[in-house]
Amino acid sequence: MDFSLSPQMEELLPQVREFINSKVIPLEMPVKKKGFRASLPELNAIRAEVKKRGWWTPQMHKEHGGLGLSLVDHGLLSVELGRCSLGHYSFNCQAPDAGNMEILALFGSDAQKEKYLHPMVRGEIRSCFAMTEPEHAGSNPVWMSTTAVKDGDDYVINGHKWYTSSADGANFTIVMAVTDPNQQQHFRASMIIVPLDNPGYKFVRNISVMGDTGDDWASHAEVRFENCRVPQSNLLGGEGMGFAIAQERLGPGRIHHCMRWLGICERSFEIMCEYAAKREVAPGVALGTRQMVQQSIADSRAEIDAAKWMVLHAAWAIEKFGQKEARDEVSCIKFFVAGVLQRVVDRAIQTLGGLGVSDDTPLSYYYRHERPARIYDGPDEVHKQSVAKRILKRYGISISK
Ligand SMILES: Cc1cc2nc3c(=O)[nH]c(=O)nc-3n(C[C@H](O)[C@H](O)[C@H](O)COP(=O)(O)OP(=O)(O)OC[C@H]3O[C@@H](n4cnc5c(N)ncnc54)[C@H](O)[C@@H]3O)c2cc1C
Repeated sequence: MDFSLSPQMEELLPQVREFINSKVIPLEMPVKKKGFRASLPELNAIRAEVKKRGWWTPQMHKEHGGLGLSLVDHGLLSVELGRCSLGHYSFNCQAPDAGNMEILALFGSDAQKEKYLHPMVRGEIRSCFAMTEPEHAGSNPVWMSTTAVKDGDDYVINGHKWYTSSADGANFTIVMAVTDPNQQQHFRASMIIVPLDNPGYKFVRNISVMGDTGDDWASHAEVRFENCRVPQSNLLGGEGMGFAIAQERLGPGRIHHCMRWLGICERSFEIMCEYAAKREVAPGVALGTRQMVQQSIADSRAEIDAAKWMVLHAAWAIEKFGQKEARDEVSCIKFFVAGVLQRVVDRAIQTLGGLGVSDDTPLSYYYRHERPARIYDGPDEVHKQSVAKRILKRYGISISK
């Protein structure tokens, strides 16, 4: 097995690391203090620089205006970008836009691509994805109340969604709504594009998450659709294809998230090691000489490396065999890497003591903002359950509920 990087990645990764260190990480604290929207001029300048360097929208195919990296190569790049909370946004491969670009490229009509995909790839507009509803368990996504009913040439959408990430300031959302309640449960819902200047769309609030409401791209909204009328041509793919499209979105999406989390792990690990080497617990005695700190370092290194190879293997499996065949690998990385992320950040905080829980390093931000990793895109338990069920099936037990 050959673990070496392609010549393109050998050249690209160190350049991107240097760029993130010198240009993007210095913006991290000021953006947190000032707010995201108020920092857009500085962020747009960084994005322009990324474009100039030819690194823009790395995950999209060249025919759609991206850099055309494979899933494995984009995964490797994502680790570098994930070292800074602004990395993916700076390169136009941030969630939820990256997932929406992907499904628009795969399932969008020519008119939808022209109106939504191309401006998004150019970085002119942002989007969001509205599936989860406060009244229903998001871990069972086929259960929803939002409906889209045909009326003349339109759909009329009614429903209540929350955790619609990045809705604040977005141009459009892709909403998941039931179009045929009489169908078998996986064919009841469809994805429909709703421009957010539609009078039937109501922005309720940005939800405060772990003490932070955020704004603009860095936020999670509660929204309502009240007799929200859109032309039927806004349907993405076919009617009843909502869950099939969601599967397309979630496989690569989980690879992107996991590799971003590994970037956070790497940054936390660097901060932990630098502190252990520098901090003295007594004159001339570095914290890193203490064996329990060494254990934190060694455990973190081993877990990050194990997680990284699992994710790269899952990315390779998706590319080689397709989403469906790779679903066990994808479920395993989703809960395993989220756990590694939580443990590594926690160890880094513990190693830094009071400094670790202060807001003077990015660790406390990671601790709060990345805790949802074990919940969104399927909670740990759901992924563990689906992997175990498929394994047990091979041992003769078929578990339907
Ligand atoms: C920061 C953040 C961003 C998000 N962004 C988006 C977005 O952009 N768009 C969108 O549509 N949604 C988004 N979500 C919603 C997310 O996908 C849901 O929160 C997730 O699917 C879980 O649904 P729920 O919150 O309703 O939890 P529930 O379904 O109510 O589950 C609660 C808990 O029960 C446990 N549980 C659930 N099922 C099982 C089981 N089978 N066995 C054992 N235990 C179980 C789990 O511990 C789970 O955390 C986001 C969520 C967060 C926190």
